[in-house]
Amino acid sequence: MPKAKPEELRALTRDVFHAAGVPREEAEQVAHLMVLSNIRGHDSHGVRQIPRYLQRVQEKSILAGKGVTVEKDTPSLAILNGNRSFGHFAATHAMKLAIAKARKVGIAAVGVHNLNHIGRVGAYPEMAAAEGLIGMCFVASRGGDKAQVPFGGIEPRLATAPISVGIPVTGKQPILLDFATSVVAANKVRQALDRKKPAGDGWLIDAAGKPVSDPAQYIAGKAFLNPVGGLAGHKGYGLAVLNTIFAGILTGGGTLASTLPNLGHDNLTMMIVLDPFAFVARDFYDREMTTLVAYLRNTKVRPGDPPVQVPGEYEELYQRKVEAEGIEIEQPVWDAIMKAARSVGVAMPQPIPAR
Ligand code: NAD
Repeated sequence: MPKAKPEELRALTRDVFHAAGVPREEAEQVAHLMVLSNIRGHDSHGVRQIPRYLQRVQEKSILAGKGVTVEKDTPSLAILNGNRSFGHFAATHAMKLAIAKARKVGIAAVGVHNLNHIGRVGAYPEMAAAEGLIGMCFVASRGGDKAQVPFGGIEPRLATAPISVGIPVTGKQPILLDFATSVVAANKVRQALDRKKPAGDGWLIDAAGKPVSDPAQYIAGKAFLNPVGGLAGHKGYGLAVLNTIFAGILTGGGTLASTLPNLGHDNLTMMIVLDPFAFVARDFYDREMTTLVAYLRNTKVRPGDPPVQVPGEYEELYQRKVEAEGIEIEQPVWDAIMKAARSVGVAMPQPIPAR
């Protein structure tokens, strides 16, 4: 598989979108978050999305350079209209606004509707955690793919409806929950297809209720994602419903059941930010959080098993590896990016030579 340096992939991504008419600053922001997804171990939401997003820019289902419109604004909440912009752009705006409000009033929520795919959801709570705040991001869809079956069902009625929470741990990496409420993200099924691998056990179900291992069946609309939790999938399903309401209905966006016009692929999102020190004293928070993390990490494991991780550690370990070795890209994905880049007159970076 070709490997490339993160900074070169960032420049490539920015240049492709800029060449397609996206203002440079917005293209830069989207490129940063897309490559960060590769760096943080979620290639499914990284540069492999360049051809899809480029197509959406060219079809004008992503409208760049429009900014966001504030529809409602109080000290502790806001509702934004994303004006069909890049999801990364509108979601960053929403998280930054929620951070600024939470700094003043302790807890704030900012919802945004009418935006595109926001990519790796964990990127936004990470912004809050980097500033010593707890960030949450809930995601739903009104016009996106019906990807996930309600628990016990055999037809898709939900998006993958991801959720992420980032919690600062002073002097250490934040705790980061970041996952789809379906067993995996839909883009991981696409990735399995590109890697010529089967879908994992329990990922997919067909319209007859049978398990499916061929990821192509999902792409063909003949198989659907199960909610996270396997036999206890009622819990993943419950979380998906919660996200659908928080991010779909409370943002003014709607849901996949909505009778409002379908605006095409979208990610409705609600950001909630809490200032932990508005709740408890800093000393108490720091001591208790540090103790909790150590307590979890020091759990006894079976002989030969790796140590217990806290959520977010996977991303930290992955980042160290990629920063040392470069980002690996499946050959079909590399070829698809090259085709997209050439179509707007941008050259691919040189892959890192194999050792
Ligand atoms: P996943 O199954 O890879 O789970 C990731 C989470 O599990 C992270 O919080 C990670 O820190 C944690 N984790 C991993 N190994 C762990 C371990 N050993 N111990 C404890 N915690 C561990 O995630 P997923 O559901 O496949 O989602 C992948 C990505 O796709 C995420 O970044 C998500 O935001 C993104 N996504 C985006 C959308 C969208 O519409 N924008 C939809 C679905 C998913």
